[in-house]
Amino acid sequence: MQVANPKISANDLCAWFGDKQVLFDINMGIPERSVTAIIGPSGCGKSTFIRTLNRMHELVPIARMSGRIQLDGKDVYGPNIDPVLLRRKVGMVFQKPNPFPTMSIRDNVLAGLKLTGQLEKSQADAIVERALKGAALWDEVNDRLDAPGAGLSGGQQQRLCIARALAVEPEVLLMDEPCSALDPVATARVEDLIAELRRDYTIVIVTHSMQQAARVSQQTAFFLMGEVIEFDNTDKIFTQPDDQRTEDYITGKF
Ligand code: ADP
Ligand code: MG
Repeated sequence: MQVANPKISANDLCAWFGDKQVLFDINMGIPERSVTAIIGPSGCGKSTFIRTLNRMHELVPIARMSGRIQLDGKDVYGPNIDPVLLRRKVGMVFQKPNPFPTMSIRDNVLAGLKLTGQLEKSQADAIVERALKGAALWDEVNDRLDAPGAGLSGGQQQRLCIARALAVEPEVLLMDEPCSALDPVATARVEDLIAELRRDYTIVIVTHSMQQAARVSQQTAFFLMGEVIEFDNTDKIFTQPDDQRTEDYITGKF
């Protein structure tokens, strides 16, 4: 699938852990303000792929990449790019909800911003309200913003992590199996939230759930052993895939 003016693009992307190559010549353009799902069997490189998009793989000492990633046409591995600022623009939400457990709900939301110095109280309050509303959590927690994050249910904790990601005003959200640790009701709420967020953000979601990919995404990429086998409109992938391996995967043959 060719994408005109992608928000993020990968060109000839390869990645290694030590001597072991785990991504092979990936070329993909990710459209703006839409949800792109990454599916494929465990170990095929889905997490590594999204981590190269915001240079998070650099936190693993033996990881390296080659090729090019561009955000709005600008090379994210260019000489003047600060990875910390890049990761604010391109936020990440993880599989296991990971709020700081003893920190208050309010401070969890502000955690990514505190690094940049003291905020005025009124300014901080506005950010907390906006981020929690954005994460569809405000109505449930606005009466106990000083309670610890650990007191929330799993689904609320994951939405708190999404609020933390939103507080720094990202443009892209990378979500690595964000519902794997959640029950079906909490999963449905996060899926509804993703559908809302699509209006304002570019979202890339790794999921092992075919149903979830079909429900939330507009494009789907099928990864297998570090390669993109097929990348197309989600409807096409799930109804008329071009590649036999895609069909075998989505029909549960492996
Ligand atoms: P997926 O998310 O699709 O399950 P990953 O991107 O996590 O796949 O992993 C791709 C490959 O890279 C796997 O073979 C995995 O074992 C390897 N790998 C992932 N993380 C590390 C790491 N920190 N050190 C060494 N190898 C890793
Ligand atoms: Mg993974």
